[in-house]
Amino acid sequence: MVHRAYIGIGSNLGRRVANVERAFAAIGELGTLLAKSSIYRSDPWGKVDQPWFANAVALLQTALSPRDLLEALQAAEQRLGRTPGERWGPRVIDLDLLLYDELDIDETSLRVPHPHLRERGFVLVPLAQIDARFAALRDALPESEARSVSPLGESDSAMPIRENDSIAERVRALARFLADGDAVRVRITRPDDDIEVALRAAEPIASRREADRAPTKTAAPRVDTIKADLVGIFHASRPAPAEGDTFEGDRELGYIEALGIRTPVHSMGGGRLVSISAIDGTAVEYGQPLFAVAR
Ligand code: ADP
Ligand code: MG
Repeated sequence: MVHRAYIGIGSNLGRRVANVERAFAAIGELGTLLAKSSIYRSDPWGKVDQPWFANAVALLQTALSPRDLLEALQAAEQRLGRTPGERWGPRVIDLDLLLYDELDIDETSLRVPHPHLRERGFVLVPLAQIDARFAALRDALPESEARSVSPLGESDSAMPIRENDSIAERVRALARFLADGDAVRVRITRPDDDIEVALRAAEPIASRREADRAPTKTAAPRVDTIKADLVGIFHASRPAPAEGDTFEGDRELGYIEALGIRTPVHSMGGGRLVSISAIDGTAVEYGQPLFAVAR
């Protein structure tokens, strides 16, 4: 016997949009995913002093009973990284069973239709998008509730920087923006520079969480910058070091010549040469970065 269930998805921790995408995939494993709403941005509900939510609704065709489905959704929440937290507090993922066929269930651990279905914009707006029967309910939402939900747009990933911000303010804004969790690509365009930074998208939540617990075990490799420790002319070793070179122990990468004296530049131990900024035969300043070595 197949049934149709509507499932509400919410996330306001970590990479929210990626979390919602993963939730769609997890729900799909419980049957056949018949419809997915767009992903919306909504203001927090209940406890309002927390980050905005990414919300969506999925329509699933499934053979699972309501109780088994709820259990499977709770197991998926765990797998996607949810930890027990305060009610209505920030969460990596929240999966609620909104409707199951035409069923009415009224038990403490399972209420269907979901008790907040009729009053919450972040449920009704995506629900009405995939099922027109809910359009009237959506249109009856109070103005403020309807306004708290909007399609996720470009502006949600725009970084607020003002013309007169100092470098320090810009760096702080960038740090906040990246910490917020949804950016996968950052592009900085100014008249004379154009920087694009691509972050790893959709990093599995499980490994992020592990990284939180044991930072030294799973953290990205440490990268050391080898700098010039005197002013002079830099000369690369022969054969010249190349990006991607790996070496077991210390290696001489070149030398700096000043007043006829050659001072070697060492890799300071083994590793992989990830970038070279030193140019053979050119003058270097004290403290100028020459090489980057990943350990
Ligand atoms: P909320 O979604 O209300 O913010 P939780 O996700 O922490 O909060 O849910 C808490 C409890 O709600 C769960 O223990 C679950 O048994 C119960 N519950 C009752 N009805 C439902 C439903 N339709 N969907 C999901 N959870 C439900
Ligand atoms: Mg829930």
